[in-house]
Amino acid sequence: RTRSSADLIRAEEPVLAHNYHPLPVVVARAEGTWVEDVEGRRYLDMLAGYSALNFGHRHPALIEAAHRQLDTLTLTSRAFHNDRLAEFAESLAELTGLDMVLPMNTGAEAVESGIKVARKWAYEVKGVPADRATIVVAAGNFHGRTTTIVSFSTDPEARGGFGPFTPGFRVVPYNDLAALEAAVDETTAAVLIEPIQGEAGVLIPDEGYLRGVREVTRRAGCLFIADEIQSGLGRTGRTLAVEHEDVMPDAVLLGKALGGGIVPVSAVVARREVLSVLRPGEHGSTFGGNPLAAAVGSAVVELLRTGEFQQRAAELGVVLRDGLTALVGRGVLGFRARGLWAGVDIDPAIGTGREISRRLMDRGILVKDTHGSTIRLAPPLTVTAAELRSALGTLGEVLRVG
Ligand code: PLP
Repeated sequence: RTRSSADLIRAEEPVLAHNYHPLPVVVARAEGTWVEDVEGRRYLDMLAGYSALNFGHRHPALIEAAHRQLDTLTLTSRAFHNDRLAEFAESLAELTGLDMVLPMNTGAEAVESGIKVARKWAYEVKGVPADRATIVVAAGNFHGRTTTIVSFSTDPEARGGFGPFTPGFRVVPYNDLAALEAAVDETTAAVLIEPIQGEAGVLIPDEGYLRGVREVTRRAGCLFIADEIQSGLGRTGRTLAVEHEDVMPDAVLLGKALGGGIVPVSAVVARREVLSVLRPGEHGSTFGGNPLAAAVGSAVVELLRTGEFQQRAAELGVVLRDGLTALVGRGVLGFRARGLWAGVDIDPAIGTGREISRRLMDRGILVKDTHGSTIRLAPPLTVTAAELRSALGTLGEVLRVG
């Protein structure tokens, strides 16, 4: 007997931690840009698992890579080598233009690993006195949910009740080079920022900010770490969002889409000098770099190698931008967009972001609100222009109905 959506939602209540407040849709199947609920209703997925599904649900090449690997070898731990890891690291280094890869699983783990590596680099290479290293981050950041990461969050909900916190972080306003310049000193191991702040509402810094961060970090002799976990791997119309300003960080953090929507795969990808500070026994993960993850990750890199997805994101980004421009003054106060990624500020008089998301859900479109009256649009990069126009048309209707 299959259980109804309502029944399954009710069943979660007493047994599942309430750390999320999902829209009341129970997804049971998915393909490409579309998902289907338990009752067979279809929805256009305009969230794409917060960019973990950049290639759509169950992309045939990724599913094939996963199936092939499931039939051969799934896990060795790093106590032994596995025959898929070299190719994954080679291809990811080549794709990003960096030298070495540290494979992990979730985004937060990549961030944690980046922090550890930056600190060790500061002590061993830069010569910062023991336990004095600082990392400069931006207000409004979202880098994940571990205790150390929420230590430098500026979101009271993310921090409240979770102290004591990890020291060693300095928070400066985002998109403010003067503040950044003032915060870096001889103790600074790294500046860690999102090239576009996703969870903050797709905040895009002014042109020149990322080049400025590169300049400031070069002068200060510290690392520039770009958290591209949400912005990277095609989303913005380029492989990495830092490419919009032709900037090469010392380390890039990747996750989400790196696992093709199939398995959690993340990585720190960095210059040799940076990742070389790690020696056996100093860091690791039972699942990091497992053969299934490596096979899927390699297939993801293969999809990105041709530039086809990046180009789709750039071209369809124009459709998204045009559609949203037409809604400004018609329920939309303003928006920020790059590639197939937009933060849309809804007129609070019409409804909260959650209410608008709910109305879109009732009309077969899945999005997610962030910060009160903002909704985020981030469809799979496989979305068609017609699907995108249709979704924007429905958003217009929802805003008109009020
Ligand atoms: N960094 C950024 C920029 C993110 O957007 C996210 C997730 O939304 C994370 C890190 C954390 O990733 P995960 O949820 O896989 O730990």
